[in-house]
Amino acid sequence: MKKILIIAGSDPCGGAGLQADIKVATKFKVYAGAVPTCLTAQNTTGVSEIYHLPVDFIEKQIEFLFDDIAFDAIKIGMLGNKQIADCVLNLLLKHDRFSKTPIILDPVMIATSGDSLLHADAILSIKKLITISHIVTPNIDEAQSLSGVKITNQKDLLLAAKNILSLGCRFLLIKGGHLDSGKRIVNYLFKNQNNELASPHLLTITNSKIFGPNFHGTGCALSTAIAANIAKGLETHKAVQIANRYVYKAIINGLAIGNGSSILCHY
Ligand code: PLP
Repeated sequence: MKKILIIAGSDPCGGAGLQADIKVATKFKVYAGAVPTCLTAQNTTGVSEIYHLPVDFIEKQIEFLFDDIAFDAIKIGMLGNKQIADCVLNLLLKHDRFSKTPIILDPVMIATSGDSLLHADAILSIKKLITISHIVTPNIDEAQSLSGVKITNQKDLLLAAKNILSLGCRFLLIKGGHLDSGKRIVNYLFKNQNNELASPHLLTITNSKIFGPNFHGTGCALSTAIAANIAKGLETHKAVQIANRYVYKAIINGLAIGNGSSILCHY
């Protein structure tokens, strides 16, 4: 069985973070190990508090797993602060034998509820993680923070993509959810060629917009679905297409679990 390691935050309401990631991996019949970086006090209406785990204990968890299990892909989600991001980066750099393991990085910064999930001084550490990532999956806001480019149109998006790819990741998926108003949402997959765009886009995926409640956990589910399919040996563009379709269906079948955002249906 293929195995992925998820390094991310805990969302006790089960809509995002590790709890959602494990559901997604299981749905794709991929084994999931899971290392929490932060514990959040959270429900469907928002985040009330974040507890950042001590870095030495995060390090212990990851080191002990690496001594034992050879993962086929590593998905990184919420890291919370600079110390944790640096700790994860240093461990991945140190474990040379994992350098061939594809890293799927979801640079989580702000929740749909508007709550901040990453301290501002951690951006540089996230950029360093991009240098060793196979694919990075920012939304528009995250792409702006990582590239320093204000994105209001396609031209800005291309410039931001160039800036992020210059950091060294092999693929970049910018989720255009917040860019395109109207009836469609476009996600753009870029491929790196010598730290430049291989072509304007490798792939654009257009989804018709689903009107209705806000959804919680879409980014987590998308990146984990990509990780599961890359672990299974699929080409990156195929993994992205499958993951996109999966999340779209999970939104259509969304569940109103609490009084706030709806939750994706993984059942
Ligand atoms: N909580 C945790 C632990 C997360 O990892 C994430 C997302 O990546 C969120 C909350 C935010 O999810 P959303 O932006 O979909 O509400």
